[in-house]
Amino acid sequence: MRALQLTGPGTLELREIPIPEIGPAEVLLRVGAAGICHSDSYVLSLPFAMREDPLTMGHEIAGTIEAVGSEVDGLAVGDRGIVYLCWSCGVCRECVRGRENVCLAAGRTAMPPCPGLGPDGGMAEYVAIPANSFVAIGDELDFAEAAPLADAALTPYHAIRGAMDQLQPGATAVAIGIGGLGHVAVQILTAVTPARVIAVDIAQDKLDLAADCGAALGILATDETAARILERTGGRGAEAVFDFVGTDSTAALAVQVVAPDGAYRMVGLGGGVPGIDAGPAGGPGLPWGATVRKSYAGTRSDLAASVELAQRGKVRVEVERFALEEGRTAFERLDRGEIRGRAVLIP
Ligand code: NAD
Ligand code: ZN
Repeated sequence: MRALQLTGPGTLELREIPIPEIGPAEVLLRVGAAGICHSDSYVLSLPFAMREDPLTMGHEIAGTIEAVGSEVDGLAVGDRGIVYLCWSCGVCRECVRGRENVCLAAGRTAMPPCPGLGPDGGMAEYVAIPANSFVAIGDELDFAEAAPLADAALTPYHAIRGAMDQLQPGATAVAIGIGGLGHVAVQILTAVTPARVIAVDIAQDKLDLAADCGAALGILATDETAARILERTGGRGAEAVFDFVGTDSTAALAVQVVAPDGAYRMVGLGGGVPGIDAGPAGGPGLPWGATVRKSYAGTRSDLAASVELAQRGKVRVEVERFALEEGRTAFERLDRGEIRGRAVLIP
């Protein structure tokens, strides 16, 4: 089969490899589509290899079950679904509490194994997955639009669910970075909260996408952005700020515009330092009561909720389709900021 593999630091190659064999608790998925996340682009930019042997990338996977392991119950050849990306241990304290996204098996600050970032992922014709990571999507959803739900919907959904106390009628939510995750976040905020959404991006076309997704206002990221958001919120700030970029400048913006008792959620992995200190409030720093959460992926039930929103037409991922052979081009376009919504590979 064909697979898009990371064969060395920064090197992506389309290779012919054997179809994976499945274990008794696994299923073989014939991939219908695989999304390209900015995290994949980050992995590609690393100066070291993720794994010694070539790694098939892709953690946003949709497809059809082709074969079922001997111990798997309840799944059948032909079932359509997507893949829950936290391949958690299922037995640690966090997993049994339904918080599989912060599974302790890999360590306190690590993430659970994720396809395409350790085990082989879905940018290939077939992928072997643990049977319990398969989430059925029914017959209606298109694979290209369903695949990104596995991360570009799951991750914002989880971050938003954790800020529901703040997102009451009259509240303002700010979404920074209207790419794959951000444009879905705007739709989820619109669908499940009464909050008014302000979108921030460096590019006007991304703000136009945010408006199509339900944002009330789009503001270009400049030195004036914080002042404009404070002006639009009566000086109070936004009850929730979701940062899908995570650089120094967006982290600073989040701190400057989050309201007292507000929620600042770090999602983007830009390595930014928000500059939070333990001194008295009153200056330009974090206001009293504000919480900061470093938000990773989401739980299985967050994924089920994300799929349901898509099935009800409340969330629709904007996708640009590419053949597997065009993978490198798709990555380059993502890096240049040229993708509207999510780039999706079709094997
Ligand atoms: P993307 O490339 O599709 O979108 C990024 C968007 O941010 C683009 O629209 C870009 O124009 C905008 N942007 C860039 N710099 C900006 C700035 N200074 N101010 C405002 N907007 C700016 O990326 P994506 O796939 O949506 O991923 C977003 C981030 O989230 C990445 O860092 C990714 O690694 C991370 N991520 C985190 C998790 C998690 O669980 N925490 C999961 C998936 C992705
Ligand atoms: Zn666990």
